[in-house]
Amino acid sequence: MSYSPTSLATFSGNCPAALKFYAEQKERDEDVEFASGPFAEFGICFHACIHACALALKKGKTSSEAHKEMEAVALAMAAGGKCIAENAHAALEHADAFMEWWEFPPEFDYEHGVAFNVAWEKAGWDDPSRRLRLIFDAVGAIKVEMEDHSELKIAVGQDYKTGWGASRENLESIQMDAYLTALEILFGEQVDGLRIEIVSTRHHRAWGKTYIFSDDKDRAELNRRRARLEFTMKAADLSNGQPRIGFGCLLCRYTEDCLAFKAYTEHTMLGLAKGDLPKLALQYVVLKRNFEDAEEILKAATKASGPLQCEDGSIGYYPSERGTLKDSMAPLAVWLKTGQLEGLEQIHMESLRAFMEIMDPGKTQFDNVAKKCAKQLGFRSQSAGAAELGKEFIEVETSMRFGLQKK
Ligand code: SF4
Repeated sequence: MSYSPTSLATFSGNCPAALKFYAEQKERDEDVEFASGPFAEFGICFHACIHACALALKKGKTSSEAHKEMEAVALAMAAGGKCIAENAHAALEHADAFMEWWEFPPEFDYEHGVAFNVAWEKAGWDDPSRRLRLIFDAVGAIKVEMEDHSELKIAVGQDYKTGWGASRENLESIQMDAYLTALEILFGEQVDGLRIEIVSTRHHRAWGKTYIFSDDKDRAELNRRRARLEFTMKAADLSNGQPRIGFGCLLCRYTEDCLAFKAYTEHTMLGLAKGDLPKLALQYVVLKRNFEDAEEILKAATKASGPLQCEDGSIGYYPSERGTLKDSMAPLAVWLKTGQLEGLEQIHMESLRAFMEIMDPGKTQFDNVAKKCAKQLGFRSQSAGAAELGKEFIEVETSMRFGLQKK
């Protein structure tokens, strides 16, 4: 059977029945990789826009010419019925904001699809013998200067996420297992290592992870990730398409089609209340109350005895990193570095300091200032600037937070 990162994530993140629903949907609609509904249109149109933008910039066109190309793409999608006009316009605006923040490496390829057969050899996109196929939002090789001043060539795969939930954790996903495996096959000995990057087009943040081939720990981790990918594909081959009620249902897109889910939720009355809004409102209050009671009991229990293991996840306290500013003047200190405030009279400077003290800014405000100043301070991108300046001004604390963790 042939897989994509999305189908494998559906199998491992939801359940075997969800994979069956996915395969049936894929038969009907090639664009199933995106969620269904208006968000699907938005995502498809956004990716088409930034693809056009990246190609235009790669050819040496200006930003305003690239914008025009994106506009033409969005208009064509709206006119061709692929996307309603409101969604096409929203996608174009989102792409404009992203383009302003993000630098598209000119040496990269964009929306680059690759397919492999079972022996991990390259295959045609529609080759019936293909085992895995995926699309890199951006892929290419860059030279990186290491701390010991040696220069390494690294193959990079970037994934531009449009969802609100994009985070550093996506670097550990099965999709990124597939990215790494594909990168290694595509670039092999031409490079010294691999890098995966998750780019949140909503939050304008990027997270990356680099693996160097000569580093034993990185090598072992790459092997482990490829083995996990292969194992997941074999497990999916053997799966029987049976539903599995559990954590996977939380983010499943097939709850409407899934009879097992419907039967289960009917017991909670939620299913019965559907369509009857006053009843649903009442049910919401009851569920909220029950939720709070359950959380209180689980917090007390897991604080004492550690996370509670469920069939496909666990509930309890987990370490969580939180960044706090070392000094409330940090955003001002970054701004001062740009030299823009040079010549400001002492009295005005004092007012600015007093204002900052009253505002008591946090990490979000610091990041915004750091991003605005990044280019002037010589950083490659806004995110690179915010990350580097953060090392100087942000303290990372680890605390225990209560929540759910999927396996
Ligand atoms: S709703 Fe739950 S059981 Fe049904 S397909 Fe989705 S994950 Fe599986």
